Amino acid sequence: MNQLERTLAIIKPDSFAGGHAGEILAMIEAAGFRILGMRMTRLSKAQAQGFYDVHREKPFFAGLVEFMTEGPVVVMALERENAIRAWRDLMGATNPANAADGTIRKKFGTAIDRNAVHGSDAPDTAAYELGFFFSGSDLA
Ligand code: GDP
Repeated sequence: MNQLERTLAIIKPDSFAGGHAGEILAMIEAAGFRILGMRMTRLSKAQAQGFYDVHREKPFFAGLVEFMTEGPVVVMALERENAIRAWRDLMGATNPANAADGTIRKKFGTAIDRNAVHGSDAPDTAAYELGFFFSGSDLA
């Protein structure tokens, strides 16, 4: 079923520092997403830990937090039909080595822990992650 949905997207520090933010935004717009909110920010360690709280016990948690705080990121609230699935499809697989041609991670990701972009993976995480960065009144 096609229903209008919102998801949280992040241009991660590697792709922002690499100068790929513009191209990623162009891909987002070409894929028919409406950008409801967008902000450039730099995550604190506490913010990165809170955002990735579900991974707190994973062996890669400390490295993930270090990476997400190493430089500026762009956080976006995106809207489209089936936005969560559609944005995950445009991102590509978590490990860029497994990402399909034409996806952002295939194009700009360089390793599983430097994979260019983030996207919510389900409606409940999308609601949590959108609320993490935006208040309802911020969204166009
Ligand atoms: P995503 O939803 O595709 O971003 O993947 P996850 O939510 O499972 O993991 C969050 C982030 O943690 C990923 O984007 C990766 O950068 C990192 N990550 C996930 N699995 C691994 C892993 O096995 N090793 C390392 N080093 N990083 C990982």
